Amino acid sequence: MPASDAMSVHPNTGAVGPPPRARRSLGQNFLVDRRVLARVVDAAELASTDQVLEIGPGRGILTERLADAAGRVVAVELDEVLAARLTARFADRPNVRVVTGDARTVEVGALLDTSAGYKLVANLPYYAATPIVRRFLEMDAAPRVMVVMVQREVARSMAATPGGMSLLAVATQLYGRPRIVASVPPRAFRPAPNVTSAIVRIDVYDRPALRLRSEREFFNLVRAGFSARRKQLRNALSRGLSMPAVDVERLLARAGIDPKRRAETLDLAEWGSLYEVAYPD
Ligand code: SAM
Repeated sequence: MPASDAMSVHPNTGAVGPPPRARRSLGQNFLVDRRVLARVVDAAELASTDQVLEIGPGRGILTERLADAAGRVVAVELDEVLAARLTARFADRPNVRVVTGDARTVEVGALLDTSAGYKLVANLPYYAATPIVRRFLEMDAAPRVMVVMVQREVARSMAATPGGMSLLAVATQLYGRPRIVASVPPRAFRPAPNVTSAIVRIDVYDRPALRLRSEREFFNLVRAGFSARRKQLRNALSRGLSMPAVDVERLLARAGIDPKRRAETLDLAEWGSLYEVAYPD
């Protein structure tokens, strides 16, 4: 284990001892591969003026590198024991603030000057990666850039193209442009997870790619389309929207979409057209 990872003792605090055992229930798979670490940091293209929000700093391996490259780092950690150790470890780094909190609910505006823009960089816990990414994409104070480590299947789903689209692909690509930076094998972490991971960078748009009167209604429609993956859109939407198949066919015809197509073949613009006819002004 690298020295900085094992060491979480600060001379002024007296908090001594090895780091606590990884808690699998919190998705604690700590990064130990320095090359992977460099790829995460490089992908974020940090400048000394950048504010960074890190989620799940864990034992601080990424936090340390972010603090070197960015102007300011706010790190939100759910595990109180790890957060206390990190606070001690970074006590002499004025540009690092460690906060005990849950990334699924934390109030970002209270942590950062969001009007100045910020980047989110994280090796996310698997169990909550998708809700965390979606939450930060959808919020008003969204980051400009996200660089996140997630399960490779999730990364592929975010960056999917027509033919392999999913609800997550639509939800990601509505707000930003995702790109898979690298695949990361289980041995890059301790304990090693059972799955392969990937680093994803999402460049978040200033405004969503579609002009929507109601994002809630839009996602009702998309969710209905994907509610029966193997089914033709006509049937999936009829079931998901509780609407007679003839009415669904009429909507699809007006949107210029063949009712025999499946949801995974539609691109974002086609979902936008369908939304326009399904939820007119
Ligand atoms: N950044 C460290 C690294 O790369 O080694 C740790 C990454 S580990 C995959 C995920 C971290 O997220 C753990 O430290 C875990 O305690 C923390 N965590 C889990 N759920 C969280 C949540 N809802 N909000 C904030 N942190 C969370």
